Amino acid sequence: MLPSFEALQLSPALQSVVHELGYTQPTPIQLEAIPALLAGRDLIAQSQTGSGKTAAFALPILQGIDLERRELQALVICPTRELSAQVSREVRKLGRTHSGLQVVELVGGQPARPQRDSLERGAQIAIGTPGRILDLLERSFMNPDAIKTVVLDEADRMLDMGFGDDVHEIMSYLQDERQTALFSATYPDRIEAMSREIQRDVLRIEITSSEDDLADIQQLKLCFGYEDKILALCWALQSHPHESALVFCNQKATVREITKALRDGDISADRFDGDLEQFDRNQVLARFRNHSVRVLIATDVAGRGLDVEGLDLVINYDLPEQPEIYVHRIGRTGRAGATGVAISMIESANDRSMQDIEEFTGRTIEVLDHSESKNSELDQLLQQLAKAPKMETILILGGRKDKIRKGDILGALTGDAGGLSSQEIGKIEVQDKLSYVAVSHDVITDAVSRLNAGRIKGKRFRVRHVGS
Ligand code: AMP
Repeated sequence: MLPSFEALQLSPALQSVVHELGYTQPTPIQLEAIPALLAGRDLIAQSQTGSGKTAAFALPILQGIDLERRELQALVICPTRELSAQVSREVRKLGRTHSGLQVVELVGGQPARPQRDSLERGAQIAIGTPGRILDLLERSFMNPDAIKTVVLDEADRMLDMGFGDDVHEIMSYLQDERQTALFSATYPDRIEAMSREIQRDVLRIEITSSEDDLADIQQLKLCFGYEDKILALCWALQSHPHESALVFCNQKATVREITKALRDGDISADRFDGDLEQFDRNQVLARFRNHSVRVLIATDVAGRGLDVEGLDLVINYDLPEQPEIYVHRIGRTGRAGATGVAISMIESANDRSMQDIEEFTGRTIEVLDHSESKNSELDQLLQQLAKAPKMETILILGGRKDKIRKGDILGALTGDAGGLSSQEIGKIEVQDKLSYVAVSHDVITDAVSRLNAGRIKGKRFRVRHVGS
């Protein structure tokens, strides 16, 4: 099954509009950004013109607009009038079945009067350039109180053009409880700095598109033919030692099937598909980041924005139909100079999707010789895989907002109070309201009871073992 717009949880009205416009499949940036924006996340998306980025933010904005309310609910800031006009066109096009929708363009070089009137009549979406927007805000012609989503399009260009201060000034008028999305072709430090000031809990979306991005990745194809596919997968996992492996499937049912097979074999594996609730999603990702889950089995839709450091193995259990998605999937490994391995499982040597991928990436992918797997037994492979050291995750219902830092958690678990040795403790991740700590499988029960009985920073927090 191809990733489709249906899978992105867009409303039926928007689905039929994209269908009418002839958009048969979401582009990689849409696949990543739409669900994240619908879930209310702040994000930085690295994206080029032509990648479908406008629809990537316009569709979630349209879905979130309450047409009954005649007030400004979304603001898109663009560096130039041309871009502003282009974005407005796309938003109007996508919003054409939203009756009562009013989109206003707030750009300089044009009389302000009609823009003010349109705001007064209750336009719900405003798209414009920083100078004019700020001017309207300063003169109270624009009521920012109901704006819940702000998009900065071509944010790098906006900074290059010297609009940084204006943007900050605009942000100061907006409520804190807003969603802020930043789209940018490049990722200079200034973008990072701006993000820190105007966003929170940011999701990063990078769409890799060029051959260069794949330079550090060893790409292999495994032709499983008539063999049992799960056996071939286990062989691939076993023969490529990894800390974190990500396995992509095209269907949720396959995700479940593989997850069950691996878990039954005592492998630390878990699933990541569109059926998971946001909270479970976060939990699975935290466990994957801290290596309590070593093999994560995902669909494309769920795997959006999945950005894990130190991901050393990606396996395409099923190949995606679009070569761009292949590049995007495997581009998650081999980051920051580390080398990664990407293995694609194909049934026969003349697999069409594989040929498309080779053409798209401009290289022939090496065949992985797996003659040994033919003599392997699934049970044996699973037993070997299950020997990897196991970590478990403890969730603490307290975080940065409770002034907890990593050292406080480490302190509560080790030394006289905790009794564990620091070797038994893995990665500690402190978020706003909760924290995750990885501990060795052997001491999990002890660690949970000690944390439950003890205190962190002099306070008691609810603690539980998650994900087993
Ligand atoms: P953008 O990157 O936003 O400038 O979009 C580039 C062009 O692609 C625009 O003309 C869009 O109308 C078009 N477009 C956006 N999303 C899709 C899609 N999923 N399939 C086909 N065309 C698209």
